[in-house]
Amino acid sequence: MSDTIEIGCACGQVALTLDRGPFFSTECHCTSCRTAGEALAALPLSRPMLNPNGGTHFVLYRKDRIAFARGVDLLTAYRLQPDSPTRRVVASCCKTPVFLEFQHGHWLSLYSALWLEGALPPPEVRTVVSDRQGLPELDGDIPAGKLPTARFYARLLVAWIAMGFKSPAIVLSQPEETISDAIA
Ligand SMILES: [Zn+2]
Ligand SMILES: [Zn+2]
Repeated sequence: MSDTIEIGCACGQVALTLDRGPFFSTECHCTSCRTAGEALAALPLSRPMLNPNGGTHFVLYRKDRIAFARGVDLLTAYRLQPDSPTRRVVASCCKTPVFLEFQHGHWLSLYSALWLEGALPPPEVRTVVSDRQGLPELDGDIPAGKLPTARFYARLLVAWIAMGFKSPAIVLSQPEETISDAIA
């Protein structure tokens, strides 16, 4: 049996090959993810970036276990501000959310939109729930708070050690856009 799976955008022009499993799966509740998800929904996205509860479900893979099989030239990166350290990447062909990348990060946070229903690794924790001020209370089905968040950072570190502290660069050919300009 192969340990490799292929996932991709809604129209099939963008495909990624994943070697083995993710090192984490999380539902992020930070304000940046929510703001970006709400704004980019106007593209419009072919598959949602946000869960109904406002969280963003990411599946985290080491960069050295991800290969772009097709359509890397179709990827467009968006930043909240021109100098934001985080870019959110969408397939321009059909506007499927693909990944979030932190500057110099050794991993990619892949958007759950890439997986077919049933194949998606469920979130293990919810992170940054403290940003949900004024939003409805979450159910207690998935652990959240300091300890699960510490586990999240520990896994990031373990993955980086395993990679020999390398952070491969991902070069995209399309010009980057600022989210507010993109949806204006
Ligand atoms: Zn597509
Ligand atoms: Zn976030």
